[in-house]
Amino acid sequence: MKIKTKLALGVGFLFVLIIVMSAIGAIYITTLKTDTENILISNYNSLEFSRNMLRAIDDTTKTSQLEFEKNLNGQLHNISEIGEQELTDTLHTSYQIYSTQQHASHLKTRIRNSIFEIMDMNMQAIQRKSEQAKSTANTAVIWILVSGTLCFLMAFTLLVNLPSNIANPIQTITKSIQQIATKNYSERVHFESHSEFGDLAKSFNSMASKLEEYNNSNLAKLMIEKKRIETLINNMVDPVIGLDEENTILFANEEALQVTGLKLTQLIGLNINDVAQKNDLIRSLIKDINVYETPQKTTTAQPLKIFCNGKDGYFEKEIVNISILPTGEQEKKRIGRVIILRNVTAYKELDFAKTNFIATVSHEFKTPISSIKMSIQLLQNHNIGSLNEEQHKLVDSIYDDANRLLKFTGELLNMTQIENGHILLAITSCNPKDIIDYAVQTTKTQAEQKQIKLTVSLPQALPLIHADAEKTAWVLTNLLSNAIRYSPPQSSVLISCTNDNNDLQIHIKDHGIGIAKEYHTRIFERYFRVPGGVNEGTGLGLAISKEFIEAQGGQIKLESEIGSGSTFTVSLKI
Ligand code: ADP
Repeated sequence: MKIKTKLALGVGFLFVLIIVMSAIGAIYITTLKTDTENILISNYNSLEFSRNMLRAIDDTTKTSQLEFEKNLNGQLHNISEIGEQELTDTLHTSYQIYSTQQHASHLKTRIRNSIFEIMDMNMQAIQRKSEQAKSTANTAVIWILVSGTLCFLMAFTLLVNLPSNIANPIQTITKSIQQIATKNYSERVHFESHSEFGDLAKSFNSMASKLEEYNNSNLAKLMIEKKRIETLINNMVDPVIGLDEENTILFANEEALQVTGLKLTQLIGLNINDVAQKNDLIRSLIKDINVYETPQKTTTAQPLKIFCNGKDGYFEKEIVNISILPTGEQEKKRIGRVIILRNVTAYKELDFAKTNFIATVSHEFKTPISSIKMSIQLLQNHNIGSLNEEQHKLVDSIYDDANRLLKFTGELLNMTQIENGHILLAITSCNPKDIIDYAVQTTKTQAEQKQIKLTVSLPQALPLIHADAEKTAWVLTNLLSNAIRYSPPQSSVLISCTNDNNDLQIHIKDHGIGIAKEYHTRIFERYFRVPGGVNEGTGLGLAISKEFIEAQGGQIKLESEIGSGSTFTVSLKI
């Protein structure tokens, strides 16, 4: 039953009880009133008439006679009891006779007797009717007591049941809501389905089952996973910034905030291009962001130097493009990118220590090796005494080794300069012919030992180049030395020049073993040597050459095929 109906019935029932009580009261009061009225109007009047007639009969005056007749007439019209009519008629007849025979005393007695009989009859009626009124009053009291008790019982039952009927379901629902609030989504309420609470219970149960479904669904798991990943990112030691496909910043971890010196509110939800306008580091991070459109992951060659936590730190920028394959689609879609700054400070510090150590050692080696070389040259000189053939061979071999050692320490020193980023250049306008002649002169003996013909083919007029003569000479010497080393004896090496409006190209072409295509870029890496080649060498020469030439704004290129020799081309600014 609906609560509204229950309340309406409860209040309505009380209303009916009030009406019933009032009706019972009204009925009995009316009955009592009728009974009293009967006594008053009929019997009391008859007694009054009779008393007046008795008083008047003894008086013989004309007034008394009229008085008697007036009361007799009243009595004739006030008949209320059975037998009263006959008695009154007898009185009337007796009076009529008495009024003609004034002195008939027996008639007077009869009249008096009739009046007494009427009085007696009415007295008895009064007594009977008062008994009746008394009984009516008693019945009224009983009925009112009974109905009052019944009403009280019903009202009490209503009072006890109705509030609990309404309050109990509210309490149950409140408890269930508290259970839901503590994530107990299996909680349900059960009410009879006809009341408003039934509807409320149905809605509550449906809400609880949806919450339970949601809690068990992938969405809830995804939310937990999202939180897990967020925590993971926040606990990463490397700064991380996440962008969506529109370059809006989605997240940035604590480390990223530290290195950028920005607050979370200054990053999250903003476009990184807008942030870059106010922050130098962000600007350098996104400088080439769009260049990294295609590859999935790109790392910068040179680490960024960032001042953070009171000291210089070194960070390798890595941009990871995040792509997904949308359900039912063939092509991947980019949904954003993540900028990671790998903290390589520790490695960089170790690297610095290593470079410094190599620089010191190479530097310290250079002087003694040079003096060994000079001493050997003295030994080779016949002026200080002659050597026998065997001693001569030994001294020559020591001399070659000292040369190699000197070249190696020289290369190591150059490498340390490059690694420290301290390539000291002395750029001047210089004649390329002089540089080429120097390189040819330096490698002449080496070529002669292998009977390799060095041919220099230069145009009549060569433009001056904008270069560091010493470094360029070093590079050309290295390239010529390689060309001789990796060529078979009695072959030839050609040095030639071409130029356009801006650049002069120096070509060093040999007919040696050649280099496979797959190694064309790798041979310019530090310490890389083509596998299966000759044993001697450090793998540093080409790496240093590339750094030296590029530092001067030039380029070094290679054209080569296995078995067809190699051509190294050095381009320098005119
Ligand atoms: P290395 O001291 O080993 O010569 P380089 O950096 O000068 O170091 O050369 C790197 C590698 O490139 C060499 O080990 C060799 O395998 C290859 N290379 C260099 N020049 C030539 C060339 N002219 N012909 C064939 N291979 C060469």
